[in-house]
Amino acid sequence: MAKAVSAILAMAALGLAQCAVRAPQDIGAIYDPPMVCDACEQWNLPQTPFKVFGNVYYVGTKGLSSILITGKAGHVLIDGALTQSAPLIVQNIETLGFSIKDVRFILNSHAHYDHTGGLAALQRLSGAVVMASAPSAKAFLRGNVMEDDPQFGFGPKGNAFPAMKDVRVIADQQVVHLGDIALTAQFTPGHTPGGTSWTWQSCEGKTCLNFVFADSLSPFSPPEYRFSDQGGLQAALAHSIARIAQLPCDIMMTTHPMFFNMAEKAALAHKNPTKNPFIDPDACATYAAKNKNKLARKLAKENQP
Ligand SMILES: [Zn+2]
Repeated sequence: MAKAVSAILAMAALGLAQCAVRAPQDIGAIYDPPMVCDACEQWNLPQTPFKVFGNVYYVGTKGLSSILITGKAGHVLIDGALTQSAPLIVQNIETLGFSIKDVRFILNSHAHYDHTGGLAALQRLSGAVVMASAPSAKAFLRGNVMEDDPQFGFGPKGNAFPAMKDVRVIADQQVVHLGDIALTAQFTPGHTPGGTSWTWQSCEGKTCLNFVFADSLSPFSPPEYRFSDQGGLQAALAHSIARIAQLPCDIMMTTHPMFFNMAEKAALAHKNPTKNPFIDPDACATYAAKNKNKLARKLAKENQP
């Protein structure tokens, strides 16, 4: 034993103990094990990161959003996709010339594994403060959805994500400040009890635009959950849908890039850099209307004799 200790001391003296080369097995110590789901592989396809407008960048994968808002006092990151998305998000941030270490706040749309899975590792890597609504924070600390989540019935295995140790609870309409970045929490429960959308302004020269990062608003659940039952989230979801429709909205993004035609818009932006295809003042109303229809269909099904 004494021999081993002296060997370690000798290595430390030579600087070998701090060897920067990372063994492959250490990757697992930084990142959480990959999640397995039917869509996971497709969702996690790498996406080249790009600037949306001003200080706002898309750093997610092809199928799951992650948004970086940069500033001199540090950056804010919204959503962490799957566990296996975390290294891609870190890489995307670096490709844009920023560092995960400068992320000060991590925000979230809702506490489901496909938007929350990467957050624990991203928090460890950045040392950022994770902020969430009270119901989302409970789920974050548990590493799973709570009993009142419409998707609870899918079971603990399918719903699990890496638990976080430290989450700061925020209130509806609370403004998160970081230097000149100011994001407002817009609670939009319904898809989950703690669902949160985020709004802020971003400027490019003299042009300032209203951003909305809209949470998922779909009434998705296993068949045994009924939104229309007492304690169900029908009224909350209807209210959230109406709330999103009324927000000042120049650029809307949401949890899954397919719901704001991210790929098409990114391709258009590449073709014609003078016209920003992400600017669409109707986007929030359109997104809300689609989800209003989904809720109506779900309720009709629930109320079938
Ligand atoms: Zn979800």
